[in-house]
Amino acid sequence: MQRILQPGEIEALDHVSFPRVRLPQPAALFQERAARLAQLADGHPIADYLRFAARLVQAQQRVAAQAPAAQAPSADVIERAGAHGMPLMPASDALPGPWRDTLRALLADLQADAAVPAPLRPVLDSLAAAGDGALDALARQALADNIGREDLAAAPLVMAALQVVFAVRAAAVPEKAVPYTEPATLCPVCGSAPVASVLRIGGNIAGHRYLHCGLCATEWHMVRVKCSHCESTQGVRYQSAEDADGRIGEVVQAETCSQCHTYRKLVSQEKDPYAEPLADDLASLTLDLLMGDTAFSRASGNPLLAIERPLAV
Ligand SMILES: [Zn+2]
Ligand SMILES: [Zn+2]
Repeated sequence: MQRILQPGEIEALDHVSFPRVRLPQPAALFQERAARLAQLADGHPIADYLRFAARLVQAQQRVAAQAPAAQAPSADVIERAGAHGMPLMPASDALPGPWRDTLRALLADLQADAAVPAPLRPVLDSLAAAGDGALDALARQALADNIGREDLAAAPLVMAALQVVFAVRAAAVPEKAVPYTEPATLCPVCGSAPVASVLRIGGNIAGHRYLHCGLCATEWHMVRVKCSHCESTQGVRYQSAEDADGRIGEVVQAETCSQCHTYRKLVSQEKDPYAEPLADDLASLTLDLLMGDTAFSRASGNPLLAIERPLAV
């Protein structure tokens, strides 16, 4: 029996012509992100934070370049994930072995830099002195978005180390091994939430919307008519913020959903080819402030910004 296809399904049928999944290339990823953060920092109300974030991402790039290549997942792992529609290597499983070495390398890189803000020094020192057990506990809390107030300043550093390890691991995954997962709103590689979504340009990805994993930076396609949090096609709308000059922000919009009452940002490369999901999300805090006055709560956080805020469940 024939049934009428919805607009989103028609777009999805065309999946042979563009990649469903874009696995990260850590070297390019961190380089582009750091450059974008530095660019956005110019004249920005939170310029100091964005410059520090750019500095942190540069350190991620250096550490990622020295990290040993990860092994591709075994045939068993691939088959099991595919059979159950589960993420390939969930971040909730055991922490990857080298993550603490990665954190300590990141900390050493930052400790050696005189430009790192003074208030951050004690945070770097205390993390560098922490034992394996304490670091693992912190990593699990950060991954579960369950960081105590006393550890908020350390959280972006811990997440930065985890991002390196998980991106390097995801980069070793063969594209064909990435399962179709349920729900489709979580990363098919590591099971984490997207930090934002991005409308890509260039080649066969042009005009397609990808969700960008906040942890491993894998991108996976989702049609724009669907809410990136509950997959409803009923109530997706967009909201923008005005900048200080009264111009409406076009590069970053908040995609809201009247079904689950959340929002997540959509970053458009069509409006700015250098737009980068995590960086542009971080630099558009004004939009978050605006959304704070609405009925929509933020669907998931930004790993490089640890603030206490109510997130949607
Ligand atoms: Zn992921
Ligand atoms: Zn929704």
